[in-house]
This record gives sequence, C-alpha cells and structure tokens, in this order.
Amino acid sequence: MPAIDDFDGFLIDLDGVVWTGREPVPGSPEALAAMLTAGKEVVFVTNNPTKRPQEYAERLQGMGVEVGPERIVTAGITTARLAAEAAGPDGAALVLGFEPLRELVAGEGLRLVDFEAPTEADVVVVSGWREFTYMSLLSAKQALDAGAALVATSHDATMPMPGGEWPGTGAILAAVETCSGKVAEIAGKPERHLFELALSRVPGAKRVAMIGDRLSSDIAGGHAAGLSTILVLSGTSGHAGSGGSEDPATAAVKPDLTVANLAALVA
Ligand SMILES: [Mg+2]
Repeated sequence: MPAIDDFDGFLIDLDGVVWTGREPVPGSPEALAAMLTAGKEVVFVTNNPTKRPQEYAERLQGMGVEVGPERIVTAGITTARLAAEAAGPDGAALVLGFEPLRELVAGEGLRLVDFEAPTEADVVVVSGWREFTYMSLLSAKQALDAGAALVATSHDATMPMPGGEWPGTGAILAAVETCSGKVAEIAGKPERHLFELALSRVPGAKRVAMIGDRLSSDIAGGHAAGLSTILVLSGTSGHAGSGGSEDPATAAVKPDLTVANLAALVA
C-alpha cells in the first residue's frame, strides 16, 4: 500500500524535495500529480522567498503539477508579517534579500530603508541573498546597534543545489548575529508561523504529514506542529557521499518515515 494512503493532506517542501536548483528531482513531478489525482490536499511550504508564490506555481505547472499560487506559502510571507509587528505602525525595514521579499515587506506597510541610512530602520530582515556583502553586513549591524529588531526567514545553513550545497540564509544570519550580538526571530520552518499559515490552507485535511529534506527545519518543525513527518533523502539530509550536510544516522530529530524520494511514497 502506498504510504500516501495513510494521509489526506501534505505540507511539502520545495528545494531538495521537488527540485534541486532548477532541476526537478527525478520522479517528483509525477508523484505530485498522482497525489493530486488521488484527491490529497497539498500545500507547498518553503523557507525560500526568492520567488513569488505565482512564480513557484508556474514552475510547478510547467512540470505538470496543476496547483495555483494559493497552494504555495513561503517564509517571505510570515517574515514580512513578523517584521511589521516588530516595527510597529509607520515602521521602516532594512531588507537583506531579493525583490520578492522586499515587495512582501513593503506590502505590510513598511518603508524600505537604503543601506546608506540603516539607522532609520526599526527592523532588519535577513534572508538568503547572493548580493550579500561586507557593506550590507555593516549596515545591518548599524541598524541593530541603533535598536532595530531582527527577523529572518530561517536558520538553514545550506541550500541544496546541483553539484553540492550552497550557503543558505543561516550562513548570512550567523554573520549578522555574530557582529551584532542579537538573535533573530525566525519566521520560517522550524518555527510555528509558517506551519500555521500552511495548515490554514488545508482546512479539510484531518491526517496531515510534513514532507521535507531537512531534519532541522522540515522534520523538527513538522514534529513540533503535531504533524506526521516524512524525510526524503533527495536533498540536504542524505546518506554518506550524497553531498547532504545533515546525517539522519546521527541527528537527534527522527522522522516518522524515511524514503529515498517523493516517488517512493506513491509507488
Ligand atoms: Mg528543502
């Protein structure tokens, strides 16, 4: 009996589960299509806010997975909300992140501050950002030294990519936290905010499982949210020699079920 028969709803991570970089994980598109055909309620839950939900939906549709943007929640959404709460009315934000995240923060009513004027910021927002530089780190420190709050999408140390992992949000956040002495509030997995938002999108599902590739965010967060947890070995948590940085054999967090990839769940 396929493992998906045990559940009627799934929260599914994207990077390392559905795709690696721009490459689909082999078998994942077909497995997702089969889950939808079987009537499962599916919401994609990603700590990666570098694309808009609409863009992720179009990429999934291009693989034959027919879902709309309402089926995708990113840590950008919860990060922007937390940043607005931290900054207060008429607040201002210094954003270390790409345009889709900046749009979400501005969409919550925050004014975006230039890196040349960091002390105007009431909150510093950190995410994975390939344009991160020493000077942006300096601006973040100056904002935080002047009293700004600190919010980040995740602590994820790495991002699975073809050919090996790249530095993740957690690597940049570590630099910001180290030089400022501040500790960020995390809006993405494993914290509750993103799980609460995702679960609100599958109101009809009674037995929900979180499927992800990262033990420290997907599995730890799913467990904390009271969900069943399924680890796939196609991304960050791999076997020896897989290039993954989290080893299920030695990790303190234990998933309820471990499978090679999404395709193995529907086989
Ligand atoms: Mg992942």
